[in-house]
Amino acid sequence: MVKKMMPQSGEKAEFIREEKLRQLLSEESDTRLDELRAVIEKARQVKLKIYGKRLVLFAPLYISNFCINNCTYCGYRSGNFFTRGKLSTKELAEEVKILENLGHKRLALEAGEHPL
Ligand code: SF4
Repeated sequence: MVKKMMPQSGEKAEFIREEKLRQLLSEESDTRLDELRAVIEKARQVKLKIYGKRLVLFAPLYISNFCINNCTYCGYRSGNFFTRGKLSTKELAEEVKILENLGHKRLALEAGEHPL
């Protein structure tokens, strides 16, 4: 079953549905734990195949702190009241150049969920 969920070399990925993941994480039967270990092992193999033993870092680039959601742990949540902002296209290009000049090759674009 796990093999069917996880891609082999050259195969298209199939994603584990949230319901299945919840089941794997919540049940402690030996069968479920074996399945979960198999998923973790497969994830480790995929990670090794793509990145090897390199530690790959992504520089966060904050585009906007507007958000309609209210996740308790997050400073961007809608229940926090502060002056919000978003980068213009020009500012975004400048930020990318600054990060490139600092040697960053990978960026993680960060923004809240908002229909701006
Ligand atoms: S930015 Fe993301 S984590 Fe934060 S409140 Fe919005 S949806 Fe939740």
